[in-house]
Amino acid sequence: MCLSPHWCSLCKAKEESVNHIFLHCSYSIQLWWKLLQEVKASWVIPKECFELLSTNFKALGKRKKSKVLWGCLVAAIFWNIWLERNKRIFEDYTGVGAEELWGRVKYWAAFWASVTKEFNNVSLSQILWDLLAAVK
Ligand SMILES: [Zn+2]
Repeated sequence: MCLSPHWCSLCKAKEESVNHIFLHCSYSIQLWWKLLQEVKASWVIPKECFELLSTNFKALGKRKKSKVLWGCLVAAIFWNIWLERNKRIFEDYTGVGAEELWGRVKYWAAFWASVTKEFNNVSLSQILWDLLAAVK
């Protein structure tokens, strides 16, 4: 359902902008909360995507493994929000709830991380099971 070319297809309540759909949308922000909950961290959602991407966030630790998984998680959130938005706009698709989308985010992040050299001794299911334990 497309209400207006400038209307957010995720919350259907605000005008769409890059920072809105990826950070501040009431739908998208649930993904960031789920991520922070899983890594047992707190965080003030940045105003802009640039600020988020330029922050050296160490919720998973300082090791290379932690940075790789964090990068995969952030990329998976952005990618899944973008896919969800586009499917809602361009296909006959009503969308999934944030809980289901979080499952997809976590799967793709774990999959991407599992094929890196940093995780060559960690299985996909181990990463999916416990993000924090996977980086130890
Ligand atoms: Zn929105």
